[in-house]
Amino acid sequence: MRRNAVNPLAAGCVAVHHCRMKVRGIVAMALALLLAACGGSPHRRPALGIAPPEDTPAAFRKCQFDMSALGAKYQILPDKDYHNGCSATHALKLVAIGIPVTNLGAVKCGTALALTQWVTQAVQSAAHDRLGGYVVKIESFGSFACRPINGIAGNKLSEHAQANAVDIAGFVLADGRRITIAKDWNGPDADSRAFLRQVRDAACRRFVTVLSPDYNAYHHDHLHFDMGKGHLCR
Ligand SMILES: [Zn+2]
Repeated sequence: MRRNAVNPLAAGCVAVHHCRMKVRGIVAMALALLLAACGGSPHRRPALGIAPPEDTPAAFRKCQFDMSALGAKYQILPDKDYHNGCSATHALKLVAIGIPVTNLGAVKCGTALALTQWVTQAVQSAAHDRLGGYVVKIESFGSFACRPINGIAGNKLSEHAQANAVDIAGFVLADGRRITIAKDWNGPDADSRAFLRQVRDAACRRFVTVLSPDYNAYHHDHLHFDMGKGHLCR
């Protein structure tokens, strides 16, 4: 939460009075920016302007360097083009990024880097802050999937069809607790609800698009993260 206190645009805007508390003591201009960004609805969050990564060989090399600098272990996957709009280029197979993440296939490097940053910089501290615990496993619904948005025929292809997205379903703690989006996003435990919103908000500072159950019913059981062009944080 300290990070939020010095970066008003990154602060979670759960309610205007909450935002005011977070920015107490910060210059008036920052306050005005923050209140504008909060908007009128508790479920609408500002798009934070994370730029989609370039999809070039040079950017891929830089991304690998940045992954290694974070201590990530990964394998470089051969480029795949399925000639139906689906592809997985400049993609990695993640071997170790700080916390095991289940069920991941190919992940485009830019998305893998944002995921690694989220795992190493945000998830453990949120678990400490909100749950007094330690995450030992993150459960995902996968990364690459050659399918349209929301799986509905006729929709344009999902970012998953380019291995550019990851769906996060839950977290297992060292003491055995299992916090899932499906069960806990609107569940009875306030600490679990706060933890899930904290990791969602942290993802919004690293991914271009973050969709939670607040977005629509298709996301009732997972957090969708991608590095496409959507600029959404809900
Ligand atoms: Zn998704």
